Amino acid sequence: MSNQKLMGLMQDDFPLNLHHLRRRMISCHPDAQVATLTEQGVVRARFGEISQRVDRLARVLAQLGVERGDRVGTFAWNNQRHFELYMAVPCYGAVLHTLNIRLFAEQLTYIVAHAQDEVIFVDDSLVPILEQLASSLPGVRHYIVMGDGEMGSLPNALRYEELMEQAGAGSFDYPEIDEREAAALCYTSGTTGNPKGVLYSHRSISLHSTATLMTDALALSKNDRALVVVPMFHANAWGIPHGAALAGADLVMPDRFLQAEPLAKLITSERPTVLGCVPTIFADLLRYADEHPELDLSSLSNCACGGSAVPKQLMRDFEERHKVRIFQAWGMTETSPVATYARPPQDSQHDERYWQTRAKQGKPLPWVELRIAGTSGEEMPWDGQSTGEIEVRGPWIAARYYNDESGEEKFHDGWLRTGDIASVDEQGFVQITDRAKDVIKSGGEWISSVELENEVMSHPDVIEAAVIAKPDERWAERPLCCVVVREGADVSAEDLLEHLRGRVAKWWLPDEFAFVKEVPKTSVGKFDKKVLRGRLQEGSLEGRVTVN
Ligand code: ADP
Repeated sequence: MSNQKLMGLMQDDFPLNLHHLRRRMISCHPDAQVATLTEQGVVRARFGEISQRVDRLARVLAQLGVERGDRVGTFAWNNQRHFELYMAVPCYGAVLHTLNIRLFAEQLTYIVAHAQDEVIFVDDSLVPILEQLASSLPGVRHYIVMGDGEMGSLPNALRYEELMEQAGAGSFDYPEIDEREAAALCYTSGTTGNPKGVLYSHRSISLHSTATLMTDALALSKNDRALVVVPMFHANAWGIPHGAALAGADLVMPDRFLQAEPLAKLITSERPTVLGCVPTIFADLLRYADEHPELDLSSLSNCACGGSAVPKQLMRDFEERHKVRIFQAWGMTETSPVATYARPPQDSQHDERYWQTRAKQGKPLPWVELRIAGTSGEEMPWDGQSTGEIEVRGPWIAARYYNDESGEEKFHDGWLRTGDIASVDEQGFVQITDRAKDVIKSGGEWISSVELENEVMSHPDVIEAAVIAKPDERWAERPLCCVVVREGADVSAEDLLEHLRGRVAKWWLPDEFAFVKEVPKTSVGKFDKKVLRGRLQEGSLEGRVTVN
């Protein structure tokens, strides 16, 4: 018998859209605060006031002729105005397209044309970058400059604050929005081929941000102040701005002041409880904090770190020396981005085993389903040993790319192939061993570059370590470890080998080290191994020492 008659007795049609976040900011959290660092100091506004500005901004969009479903570009740092756009554009019914300000000119030109952005909101401090591209962006009708700085040679430039002033006060008549409509668009950084667009829906953002509030995830609450260092132009800043709107957490925005010094000072003065950023920024902060004991970072009891593997020594040093707790998350642009989160068992001893667990990427969030596929696609067991490519599915996982068929092979039978290699243990804890393209295939076996790096970085004098594959006649590939050592430290390749002995299998020991000044980084601050591989190939990789 069908249970049709037993359906429809709940408000199942209530749309999961960003109007709820917008309304909640006014009705439940009018006093939550956004604090933005500027050259003149910290500028503050409450959610109540911001909500009124969001209404004004919706009117500005209407005056600019933005239509339902149009993509609206942003070229901006993390600040209050970007947050206003995060709310206003999707609630207006248009699509917020966050442009990654660090991409190459050709990639940006491609992305703006592909997304058909007609209006781009740009921070005044970023005008010098955008004006160089403007002649190759014929489709853009208007640039809206945020801040009082120069508008440069940007054609048809208008000022944000002037438009807001003209838009007048009062509520806006927002359209009803189906939860499956697009809310935001973000392109992957395109390490291979053209960047690909991931189109987040109102539903996917609503569910993802709800999940990040859970205790076993980011656990954002109204008692938190979240310092958002992960860029708002990359994967919705991990959903933290949306989460804050839902939960009523304060947001602390560093704008363009992302170096360790201003960040450490901002933490000391603003006392955020939460911080989201990639490991390289955490590592810079740690070094700075070690050298400046007068600064106090201990308010940070609940940090999220991800984007690349988080070295366990980094978490340990921060926790033991500065009372800063970092938890690891894993995900990608295509997964909104948070898919797993690593909360450790509460009662465990802080021994080596505990730190091994902390180095894992964590359990899938509720609603995220995950499996690992072996080389012929077979599902591998969750035994903590067997590895394979992670495949995921769930309500905030991309089903395909926006207007691009070239990435079709990543999606099959409702699952997303992530390109990440991992094992999963009996408790559902995921441990990434590598990106498929970074793994080192030595004598038919795989060496995890991530694990090797983690162990090299546990050496007290090593600041950065990136392991790449070096072609080898006998073994096909062997590990080559690029290291950056602390200034003034006297560390030889032999010392590093000695440190690794007993920590990794003997056949994993690198054959060669390259003592480099800095590991090159991608547009979002990850180690850029592609550049290192290129240097190795063309013979320009510096400081090479053969050891094994
Ligand atoms: P890209 O780095 O390709 O520009 P993303 O920012 O979407 O794009 O990066 C996603 C990738 O980052 C994942 O597929 C994974 O390889 C890596 N990653 C993210 N978080 C972690 C983590 N905690 N540990 C290891 N790798 C991670």
